[in-house]
Amino acid sequence: MKNTKYVFVTGGVTSSLGKGIIAASLAKLLQERGYSVTIQKLDPYINIDPGTLNPYEHGECYVTNDGAETDLDLGHYERFLNIPTSQANNVTTGRIYQAVIDKERRGDFLGKTVQVIPHITDEIKHRVQILGNTGDFDIVITEIGGTVGDIESLPYVEAVRQLKWELGENNAIVIHLTLVPYLAAAGELKTKPTQHSVKMLMQSGVNPDVLVCRTERHLSDGIRRKLALFCNVQKEDVIESIDADTIYDVPNLMYNEGLDDVVLKKLALSTDKKPTLNTWNNFLQRHKNPKHTVEIGLIGKYVELHDAYKSISESFIHAGAVNEVKVNIHWIHSESLTSTNVPDKLKSLHGVLVAPGFGERGIEGKIKAVTYVREHNIPFLGICLGMQIAVIEFARNVLNLKNANSTEMDSNTKYSVISLMKEQKKIIDKGGTMRLGVWDCKLEKNSNVYEAYQTELISERHRHRYEFNNEYLKQFTEAGLIATGVNPKTDLVEIIELPSHPWFVGVQYHPEYKSTVLNPHPLFVAFVKACLKSKNHTF
Ligand code: GLN
Repeated sequence: MKNTKYVFVTGGVTSSLGKGIIAASLAKLLQERGYSVTIQKLDPYINIDPGTLNPYEHGECYVTNDGAETDLDLGHYERFLNIPTSQANNVTTGRIYQAVIDKERRGDFLGKTVQVIPHITDEIKHRVQILGNTGDFDIVITEIGGTVGDIESLPYVEAVRQLKWELGENNAIVIHLTLVPYLAAAGELKTKPTQHSVKMLMQSGVNPDVLVCRTERHLSDGIRRKLALFCNVQKEDVIESIDADTIYDVPNLMYNEGLDDVVLKKLALSTDKKPTLNTWNNFLQRHKNPKHTVEIGLIGKYVELHDAYKSISESFIHAGAVNEVKVNIHWIHSESLTSTNVPDKLKSLHGVLVAPGFGERGIEGKIKAVTYVREHNIPFLGICLGMQIAVIEFARNVLNLKNANSTEMDSNTKYSVISLMKEQKKIIDKGGTMRLGVWDCKLEKNSNVYEAYQTELISERHRHRYEFNNEYLKQFTEAGLIATGVNPKTDLVEIIELPSHPWFVGVQYHPEYKSTVLNPHPLFVAFVKACLKSKNHTF
């Protein structure tokens, strides 16, 4: 059993400073030094999980192996650390309150008045320590969502205060991520917002141990000294986090600033073993020095907000590095596609990805795009809804099943080539009721996917309600669209391919959730390779 240490990461001044990337970068450095680390995110909103949130609100919903629908920061944690996260790694206020209210209804509080302190804060502390109590981790990093000073963050900051006190010195520290803005008119960096935000934190009884300062200009010695003086830290505890070209530069930047050293010293842990970041830097080297470029269209209905497809765009970065290719993503709004403009929009692309999604909006544009790439031999990867679209397109235009559809879009369709799974039919609740998490899939040997994975049995993460309707399988197979991946237990079709096409693959699961820097996803690697071949006409 390890004596787990805790690192809390709070945010000040403004949101979107990149707490998740700082937490992931620190974790990476600690992992490289031989410590076992995990990262947890506490989200102060009242939704039970982001599964029911519109992607425009909060970006992508990330899915873990155990089927938790989580904040997209967990994707960064996995991509950096290369170890899976789980339900315990993401907790929301909704979940905390639900647990406390369930206990109250069961009578667990024995007539006591249930209050934010201690009941809500106890539940928060319990959730923080669940990961530590597994005994698997030397260090648990807990990122507190939101900004210090938000009303909804108060119980979390209070729980941090209590935990810091209870766990004692050298066992729990607080890193405060803050903004040091550059005022062009004054020609200087300003420390006041940070001073105020630290004061606010201190009013809640929490003294930061380390300040990480987001900035667009280097922090001078004088600025560091000033920040240290006003914020109750040593000068070495002021860490500069300068804007980077890529998030994957941040571990190196944090190492150069000594963040991992400072943290380990404050936790009374050894700093003897230094991180090497060999494989990481190998990846960075390839990522920054591509030999080729490919142009890939990403068709979705949330493209205005790139965060809605975070794991997909990161997967392209990982797969691009393997192929020494820079993938230029062309974000295409599915609603902007019409029969007349599809050729113009797609003809110069080397590959097209049709993205996951829910509901009817943008469906017809996606179908038109698939017709074009199918007929023009452009490499195609359809993910989840993207795979379902490929099935609908083929049904309509090759099998001549007029108006074939998914029952999600048209519950009365005559040809329901995609339909609700049996176990989904009686479900009314929207939250957490989809087919979620990892499921096995057996691959056909003679297929593009087998060539990509080089193994017969894979397991991938899912998040959907609708499925390929097996009543039509024979018809599809005879016409040339075949199932090259099937769930061995349920016979559900997980992958479809068109062998007559150079590279046309649709997957019911989400490969993007499993791609990491150390393990770029084989399907993305193969897709990028196919796009390069398409560019060079070497199919
Ligand atoms: N809306 C589809 C379904 O529920 C696809 C979901 C997705 O793309 N994640 O089956």
